[in-house]
Amino acid sequence: MSASKKIFGLFSGGLDSILSCKLMCDLGFDVEALYFSTLFQKFKNFDDLPNNYFFDCVNGNFKIRTIDINDKFLEIVKKPKFGYGKNINPCIDCKILFLNEALEIMRRENGLFVFTGEVLGQRPKSQKKNTLLQISKNTSGAGYIVRPLSGKLLPPTIPEIKGIIKRDALLEISGRSREIQTELAKKLNLRNYGQPAGGCLLTDKRFSEKLKHLLENNLFTKKQIEYLKLNRNYAFDNKYKIIVGRIEKENDLIEFNADVNDLLFTVDEVPSPTTIILSDEKLDLKENEELILTAAKLTVKYSDKKNTDIYKVRVFNKTTEKLSEISINKNDLNFSEKLIFI
Ligand code: SF4
Repeated sequence: MSASKKIFGLFSGGLDSILSCKLMCDLGFDVEALYFSTLFQKFKNFDDLPNNYFFDCVNGNFKIRTIDINDKFLEIVKKPKFGYGKNINPCIDCKILFLNEALEIMRRENGLFVFTGEVLGQRPKSQKKNTLLQISKNTSGAGYIVRPLSGKLLPPTIPEIKGIIKRDALLEISGRSREIQTELAKKLNLRNYGQPAGGCLLTDKRFSEKLKHLLENNLFTKKQIEYLKLNRNYAFDNKYKIIVGRIEKENDLIEFNADVNDLLFTVDEVPSPTTIILSDEKLDLKENEELILTAAKLTVKYSDKKNTDIYKVRVFNKTTEKLSEISINKNDLNFSEKLIFI
């Protein structure tokens, strides 16, 4: 196929984006699907998917390119021009960002247009007709954005006007029902489709609450966000984060991702969590006694109980196996008011 047939689609891994890619392939375009990877998705790269999900569902009809967009994405999560959705999901800014990146790739690689799997009226806020048009208008190439699943219900785009794609070939799906898409998937012989990523964490109420704490306390960094995905997140004095592992896999992750200034805690004599205090600078053990004692107590709180009252908590870091040892009485697990569970 000649390079002039090249087009780029926004790809989330969900059914609508698969359908739009497949439809475009069937019209004879050379489709490349762009997967924008952020910290808020459950997997980072389409190659990571089990059982070769992609090949199984679309029979290898199009390529997927994964693009790490975290730096730009974190900026819009911090301060979205068009505000948040129900939780900390800056969907309008996010779509504008992804489209702008796709349009940039289109120009650089001589593509004809970009397209999305959006369906008119499917989501309450971000997929209303006016919002879709507003999104396009705020990109660098409004006329080059085709939405094949609802294209007939939207104003003609430049590729349609130029005859690159026939308006008749576009669909007119709208609304929240998934019926037409499910039928179409059957017709196109798509199998095992679904949302392998489990969606975007920014739409999750609980995760958004935790993220808000990072934003409000100037702790909004990639590392803090990664640790936020673990269950037992505490804040001390709204300045330090203490995270306590819940299962072995989390303990391993905590230790593996620790930097040299982070302090780690464990009890060696019994099954115990690994606890971490995240810190950008070296923490003096004496000066930060209250913080360190709190992390040690939390480690004991979640350790398996034994017959004696006293637990020995080992404090260590990435480079030193034992910086200190703190004795904690299991009957004395009172916590300072500075500690909050987030
Ligand atoms: S749900 Fe997440 S990935 Fe999807 S548009 Fe909104 S912010 Fe972007």
